[in-house]
Amino acid sequence: MKFDIVIIGGGIIGSAAAYFLGKDGRAGDIAVIEPDPTYTVATTPQGAGGVRQLFSVPENIAMSQFSLGFYENFDGEMTFPDYQPDIGFRRQGYLFVVGKTGAVTLEENHKRQTTMGARAELMDVAVLGEKFPSLGVSDVALGCYSPDDGWIDPYSALQGFRRNAEHHGVTYIKSRVASLGVTGRAVTTATLEDGRTIEGAFFLNTAGPWCTEIAAMVEAELPIKPMCRAQHYWLCDSDVEPLPLVKDETGMFFRPEGAGFAGGCPTFDIEPGFVQDVDRGFFANYFEETVWPLIANRVPKFESIKLERTWGGHYAQNMFDGNMIIGTFSSRIDNIVTACGFSGHGIMHAPAVGRALCELVLDGDYQTLDLAALGIERVWQDEPYAESGIK
Ligand SMILES: Cc1cc2nc3c(=O)[nH]c(=O)nc-3n(C[C@H](O)[C@H](O)[C@H](O)COP(=O)(O)OP(=O)(O)OC[C@H]3O[C@@H](n4cnc5c(N)ncnc54)[C@H](O)[C@@H]3O)c2cc1C
Repeated sequence: MKFDIVIIGGGIIGSAAAYFLGKDGRAGDIAVIEPDPTYTVATTPQGAGGVRQLFSVPENIAMSQFSLGFYENFDGEMTFPDYQPDIGFRRQGYLFVVGKTGAVTLEENHKRQTTMGARAELMDVAVLGEKFPSLGVSDVALGCYSPDDGWIDPYSALQGFRRNAEHHGVTYIKSRVASLGVTGRAVTTATLEDGRTIEGAFFLNTAGPWCTEIAAMVEAELPIKPMCRAQHYWLCDSDVEPLPLVKDETGMFFRPEGAGFAGGCPTFDIEPGFVQDVDRGFFANYFEETVWPLIANRVPKFESIKLERTWGGHYAQNMFDGNMIIGTFSSRIDNIVTACGFSGHGIMHAPAVGRALCELVLDGDYQTLDLAALGIERVWQDEPYAESGIK
């Protein structure tokens, strides 16, 4: 089998790239190699689906701004005969809250966000208490509320990208890439675990937390590690007013979901690696001992809740600076690019990244939003480009 473009990994990033490339019409024959069509182990369906402009790095703000508009129109734009997506986009806002020491950074970031056109409001404790009476504010000095932000259902968005990519002629191949063949400065073949060989002219490494395995096949290194993140769904027996997605400096976050709330708190106290069962080992008592006190501190009504479900997924954590890496990643190979290391932000940035990958492949450079600062060169030159404040 021979393709012009071979995409390795068909999660939300690979499928967004496949959608933009397929729709563009210039790309020729495109294949996505994806071993897990039910996406049982992929990261995307495990995500909270939050989409926000509350960042400090301008590229992250700009990507979210594109994605918000894209996701708002997703259901209409991605409909075709016999297919009607519903990604459940809800513009219910984001709220970051910080204590005294975080207030200056929150203010600086707010300035940048609003300068770039984001609608965001700084709120002192009195205003916060009035607008969100259920919020615990005893340790809070300042909040930043962005009403245009919100969340989507990530699995539906992933399927929407995939179904539309297929609608535009992209071929999904159910298998895993086992090795890559290199001739000179180019990858020429992907050998699949079932023994098939795919020839390709250009390759994309969008294998999420498995991206380092693909990089190793061309003897390249990426500073990415899988970090298990548990998420929880709980019901609260008291009435809570409609809240935005709330996040604080501990990393604790939650948002309304159906009749209850979904959230958690990422930790760096575990060793990187894939965790199969989040009910055991490190995470056995994690909700009770760590997450529950944090959510109950933020919303005292959460003292009384019923935990319904815990599940886990893996951040592709960029251990270098916590931001994604996009573009070429090997100094010796020219025809393979990546978008990886999203460190918890891949769902919200997928539309902008899919578009950017399409531009890199077809035009050789960014045409709309310049993401050059997020390339691997910053790792090679030891110049971190990190978020400040809440990540
Ligand atoms: C608990 C949690 C909460 C999150 N919350 C948010 C949030 O609120 N907002 C947000 O924007 N992001 C969030 N994220 C992050 C987001 O889910 C990820 O950044 C995003 O899903 C990454 O998408 P991906 O396509 O890169 O990876 P994945 O979805 O993991 O897709 C990678 C694909 O590659 C395939 N693959 C692996 N190895 C191979 C191989 N050898 N050959 C071929 N294919 C291969 C896999 O089967 C997989 O389907 C969260 C993540 C977690 C875990």
